[in-house]
Amino acid sequence: MIPSVLPTYSRAPLSFVKGEGSWLIEEDGRRFLDLGAGIAVNALGHAHPALVAALTEQAGKLWHTSNLYQIPQQQALADKLVDLSFADTVFFTNSGTESCELAVKMARKYFYDKGQPDRVEIITFSGSFHGRSSAGIAAAGSEKMTKGFGPLLPGFKHLEFGDEDALKAAITDTTAAIMIEPIQGEGGIRSVPDQTLKDMRALCDEHGILLILDEVQCGVGRTGKLFAHEWAGITPDIMMVAKGIGGGFPLGAVLATQDAASGMTAGTHGSTYGGNPLGCAVGNAVIDIVGDPAFLAEVNRKAGMIRQKLEGLVANHPDVFESVRGNGLMLGLKCKATNSDVVAAGYKHEVVTVPAADNVIRLLPPLTITDEEIAEAIARLDQTASSLTSA
Ligand SMILES: *Cc1c(COP(=O)(O)O)cnc(C)c1O
Repeated sequence: MIPSVLPTYSRAPLSFVKGEGSWLIEEDGRRFLDLGAGIAVNALGHAHPALVAALTEQAGKLWHTSNLYQIPQQQALADKLVDLSFADTVFFTNSGTESCELAVKMARKYFYDKGQPDRVEIITFSGSFHGRSSAGIAAAGSEKMTKGFGPLLPGFKHLEFGDEDALKAAITDTTAAIMIEPIQGEGGIRSVPDQTLKDMRALCDEHGILLILDEVQCGVGRTGKLFAHEWAGITPDIMMVAKGIGGGFPLGAVLATQDAASGMTAGTHGSTYGGNPLGCAVGNAVIDIVGDPAFLAEVNRKAGMIRQKLEGLVANHPDVFESVRGNGLMLGLKCKATNSDVVAAGYKHEVVTVPAADNVIRLLPPLTITDEEIAEAIARLDQTASSLTSA
């Protein structure tokens, strides 16, 4: 008989019942060091006092009204994001894949309104992940995600990740946009070099097409800047955000320039829950903390420390690990052992990591992880690796 929970996930036999900062407490009382943070969602760890206060305070006042009315928390968060980023305008969603849906609609409407209705095609890359909606799976295009779900939304051109010549050749008069994650998350923590992002920006400008960045996983302080593209010194036209921005509360956003958003007039898009008072109350609290340059400086300092220790870990366990990759606190260990075995062995040593494609395990700790917790994380990963080689 089918389980009462639709069996689309193969789940670890762990039931966490409480979270405290970088720690997850299992039903049986064991304390796990959380280097996954709900796949880069719990940016400020578990039960951060400022987020708990923001949520409970708002919960006692007003949960929901609908976007038929002004929502002051939404306005405040939009103002902050506009202030802190390239964007002129923001639409709030509840998830990454909803942000993808709007990014695609926005790009197509832009060219439609400019009198170029044939410019509908969006270029995407192998190994990418943009969520599980119909547009999201069509955008990513992998057989694993799309097989059996056809007919797929048309208008995506899939290129090999890193093939810049193919990208130049792929742009035609029906191309609307390039959509890319500055660092692939699900794809195995694969960073796009700064120079490549600069070249893409230049290519988009040359052809008058839009650059859409998917910062759902790499955004909101994860790399040590508020948004990952800032490292390359470029700006996108449209950006998808989710995960970290809600710190664990479902919240997403699409940020855009005035020009890129120009087609999205009243009635062209909507969402019942997007930008609701609860989500935006939490989002404001997250951005107030993560948007502070002093907080981001700490992320960078800790990123340097963990990176150095991970290089040592890899050197000590050449049979288990191959290399360290990623940026900031969005890190990957390319494995020689099977990545899912490493993740499972980690559970025995009470450390949580997340598998990704390309035989990588992801380390996406809370941005608030302490120096002591970093040392403890390395110790637990070291025990994990030793248990695999002695087995
Ligand atoms: C997680 C993720 C998504 C999808 O987000 P959901 O909230 O699961 O819909 C999209 N893009 C990237 C890069 C992601 O990591």
